[in-house]
Amino acid sequence: VVGRVPLIAGNWKMNLDHLQAVAFVQKLHWALKDAKHEVGSVEVAVFPPFTDIRTVQTLIDADKIAFSLGAQDLSTHDAGAYTGEISGAFLSKLNCGYVIIGHSERREYHDETDEVVAAKVQAALRHELVPVICVGETLEQREESGPTAVSVGQLEVALEGVPSGADIVVAYEPVWAIGTGQVASPEQAQEVCAALRTVIAEKLGQDAADRTRVLYGGSVKSGNVASFMREPDVDGALVGGASLVVDEFAAIIRYQK
Ligand code: PEP
Repeated sequence: VVGRVPLIAGNWKMNLDHLQAVAFVQKLHWALKDAKHEVGSVEVAVFPPFTDIRTVQTLIDADKIAFSLGAQDLSTHDAGAYTGEISGAFLSKLNCGYVIIGHSERREYHDETDEVVAAKVQAALRHELVPVICVGETLEQREESGPTAVSVGQLEVALEGVPSGADIVVAYEPVWAIGTGQVASPEQAQEVCAALRTVIAEKLGQDAADRTRVLYGGSVKSGNVASFMREPDVDGALVGGASLVVDEFAAIIRYQK
């Protein structure tokens, strides 16, 4: 993990409207401010629904809250006749630094293929957004092709055409562990995260592999986050359900190795 600032990212999914978002961000800010333990050099990022982003951005700016901001998706296109789509240009203008791409719920419910994911990665990079590229296998795929093959294949396609200097984040999220309470073991997470770092090295070079953060996601809680963070190739967590509970998310951010 040397040189890589740990990233704790909260994916709100389709939860918290813009009014609830105000209360949530303020409470989280205060929960961390009051903390006896220093949050230290952990980066905290929140990923609200699109309709909350302007509100959360204003709050972060006004109160000098040190959270990074991201979106949960973006269009492959930059502008034009694409009803209902959101351009990366709009997200950049709202000071979003990150965008989640290829979350398993997008792949499953919106038929996002590896090629669509790759096009969205390119769209993010065009607008100076850091793509948080999500990969991961279902239980059947794990049984069929082993623990690493699906994630490695998904990442290889997502990194097509990505320049070696690009700033990216990769998240290993086994589908069987998302929202199920069935968490991967730290060893399982490490095995796949290490394989993903090897893909980054092959595609973008060793420098990129050394500086890119690889996260684990899937039923992360305050009680298990430290065990993941002790693994050498796990540089943070992408948190769904537990990121919606102020005290629990604050405790995850304050993990002690
Ligand atoms: C997620 O949706 O990215 C996720 C990891 O969800 P959960 O933490 O609820 O399993």
